[in-house]
Amino acid sequence: MLKRFYPDRYVKSIYDIDLNDLKASGIKGIILDLDNTIIARNSSIAPKELKLWIKELSEGDFKACILSNNWKARVSSIASQVELPLVARAAKPRVKSFKRAMCVLGTGYNETAVIGDQVFTDVFGGNLAGLHTILVMPMSNHEAFHTKILRRFERRIIKRWLNINNRH
Ligand SMILES: [Mg+2]
Repeated sequence: MLKRFYPDRYVKSIYDIDLNDLKASGIKGIILDLDNTIIARNSSIAPKELKLWIKELSEGDFKACILSNNWKARVSSIASQVELPLVARAAKPRVKSFKRAMCVLGTGYNETAVIGDQVFTDVFGGNLAGLHTILVMPMSNHEAFHTKILRRFERRIIKRWLNINNRH
């Protein structure tokens, strides 16, 4: 039952993702959440570390784009700072939004990964769309009110995921 909410991978941050391993598993396109995944929700300046990581993606021949439910000017500013295409106002977890991002990337279901900090939008939506899902820990605790409420349920799911995955 909970399977739809489980990520394929769970890491501390985007910087802990093994890109070589991702490549080896056939991933060519990466859909990135913005808030608290690649940048803290209260920050408007893309840090150098992030720019370098995105450079690493393109050097590794990954296609990448940002998929965000946010629509504010800050989001498009960050997308242009890191020079990535943006699909904003996405309405994740709706499958349609992931399809829009895949159109931008030009990659298929088996070749696309979703990276995000939220179980109920990024992971659940990515799973529904049939994509590889990677959960990261949120970069800050600046969150929308509804996100804060969902975090409680999220913690339980992550705990179970960790229990299952540590058994192997
Ligand atoms: Mg987020």
